[in-house]
Amino acid sequence: MLGAIEAGGTKFVCAVGDEKGNLMERIQISTTVPEETMPKVESFFKKYPIKAIGIGSFGPIDVNKESPKYGYITSTPKTAWRDFPFVQSMKAAFDLPIGFTTDVNAAALGEATFGAAKGLDSCIYITVGTGIGAGAIVQGKLLQGVSHPEMGHILVRKHPNDPYKGKCPYHSDCLEGLASGPAIEERWGEKAENLAAREVVWDMEGYYLAQALMQYILILSPKKIILGGGVMKQKQVFFSIYHYLPKLLNSYGSLPEISDYIVSPRLGDDAGITGALILARQAHQESLKKGI
Ligand code: ADP
Ligand code: ZN
Repeated sequence: MLGAIEAGGTKFVCAVGDEKGNLMERIQISTTVPEETMPKVESFFKKYPIKAIGIGSFGPIDVNKESPKYGYITSTPKTAWRDFPFVQSMKAAFDLPIGFTTDVNAAALGEATFGAAKGLDSCIYITVGTGIGAGAIVQGKLLQGVSHPEMGHILVRKHPNDPYKGKCPYHSDCLEGLASGPAIEERWGEKAENLAAREVVWDMEGYYLAQALMQYILILSPKKIILGGGVMKQKQVFFSIYHYLPKLLNSYGSLPEISDYIVSPRLGDDAGITGALILARQAHQESLKKGI
């Protein structure tokens, strides 16, 4: 049995499951402060004979194993979690191998192993929710360099009819600043989920996301693009992307059939937690190899 954590800014999902990706038991815990949330996480896992734990966390996080702050949540706007030593705190409670990556990397791993990108050695998983983030698998491995990618913060051209200044605290009108759920809410004065009937909202959303996808496609050439998160529950955004992306690319390079190329997560809302389970499996296998 393996343990999995999908640590989000509003809630933690904790689950136990097997190495085939089957989830057996799960709970949800509100993300308040570490002193309150973490004891609940620990008491859940203490009930099961788990062999390793995988964590997909909101970020930014330090994923560089050479870094003194490896395993930490770093400069998050959620101040209670800033500089929280996530992996170290779990290690102190469980003497087990622990896998640690971003929430979107975990979702990419889940979809690449059991979901929409199963059998492919590359894909991108993008979440459009409270923030925008993406994880990429390239040649069978999660893309990572100095840090994890931050594909939500790329720059896009403003829509000619969009006077909105943008919501990113770092860059104002980056992709996240213009197209996240809170940006939609602030621009249109209503929660995104209540704007379903306003076509102009979703047309503009697709206008921005298509630009981002164009850049990801040109740079990484992924074999599948998976779009999840709350905002993508509005299926009309997919149609807006299908409209704008070919126009932007203007026949430069060839795309697979677009509706089969840019898709929803096949694992639905379980992509992240399933990926965290795979991360646990990997951490377990690595520890066996090292003979720890
Ligand atoms: P989080 O990013 O916190 O993990 P979500 O992916 O659900 O969670 O993203 C939350 C954002 O998505 C909010 O801004 C919310 O308004 C928006 N959202 C949630 N559900 C929907 C929906 N059905 N349609 C459009 N927007 C939605
Ligand atoms: Zn930004």
